[in-house]
Amino acid sequence: MDVHSLDLMIEYSYPLYRPPAEADNIIIQATYGCSYNNCTFCSMYKTKSFEVRDIEDVFRDVDTLAKLYPDARKIFLADGDALALDTNYLLKLLSYLKQSFVKLGRVSLYASAQNILNKSSQELEELKENGLNLIYYGVETGSDTVLKKITKGVNQSEIIESLNKASDAGLKISATVILGMGGIKYSDEHIKESAKIINETKVNYLSTLQLGLEEESKEKFYKHFSDFEMLSDTELLQEQKKFLELLNPTNKIIFRSNHASNALHLGGNLPREKDRLVQELEDAINVGEMAFVPRMFRGF
Ligand code: SF4
Repeated sequence: MDVHSLDLMIEYSYPLYRPPAEADNIIIQATYGCSYNNCTFCSMYKTKSFEVRDIEDVFRDVDTLAKLYPDARKIFLADGDALALDTNYLLKLLSYLKQSFVKLGRVSLYASAQNILNKSSQELEELKENGLNLIYYGVETGSDTVLKKITKGVNQSEIIESLNKASDAGLKISATVILGMGGIKYSDEHIKESAKIINETKVNYLSTLQLGLEEESKEKFYKHFSDFEMLSDTELLQEQKKFLELLNPTNKIIFRSNHASNALHLGGNLPREKDRLVQELEDAINVGEMAFVPRMFRGF
């Protein structure tokens, strides 16, 4: 089952995004758009205004999907930051999902630092106890300079605080860092400070994407980041190598770099397989373009 076959039964509001790991799972749209919608590099929800759907309409979608897929085990709540929803709304929805899908084992959603900091630790714990298991979180960069230039709306210490608040509540975290986010000028700072975030928190999954800018985002992006210069694929892999070298997590992390944007697909467990991952990057950098995923097969 994928988003396209579900579209025949549910009227989704497009564009509809979900993490790659949720490709085979049920998607329930509880919100439309992103409650922040102001990061300059992101064009995902620029055509939508943030909206909380009437919970009765969402329940109707759940009923339809439960009839069709009664054995579903994993559900993703869309759109861009469903953790922005009021905690009572989420608790009602989690309870409805539990009674509708008897084999349900995982509910996940996208969450921002702001969403997490706007909830109390008790609220996050309650959500976890009632079936919210996993949050997808875009770190993007740990550099305060770059966070300001991409108007992310949070600083490094708020990112660290929010990630630790979520993991302390028992929520699993899948985090992403964007290679190239600092451009050439802030590359070192971007990598060093992003590694600091991962080392000072307890994310369970980590992936690195390569920055890509949609045409319609460029004007706003460069307005705030006038000294930005895009890195080449080789420079991006050098960034990734430095990033991995600097990672010393205290917990186990499943690392993936297999997004459509990536010039090289990598995967392994950290810290155990760090040396092997660094070596694979070193080998690909030495071989050059021939070792990279051809551009025609990539996207962002
Ligand atoms: S990156 Fe995330 S928080 Fe920022 S505008 Fe896009 S969806 Fe919203």
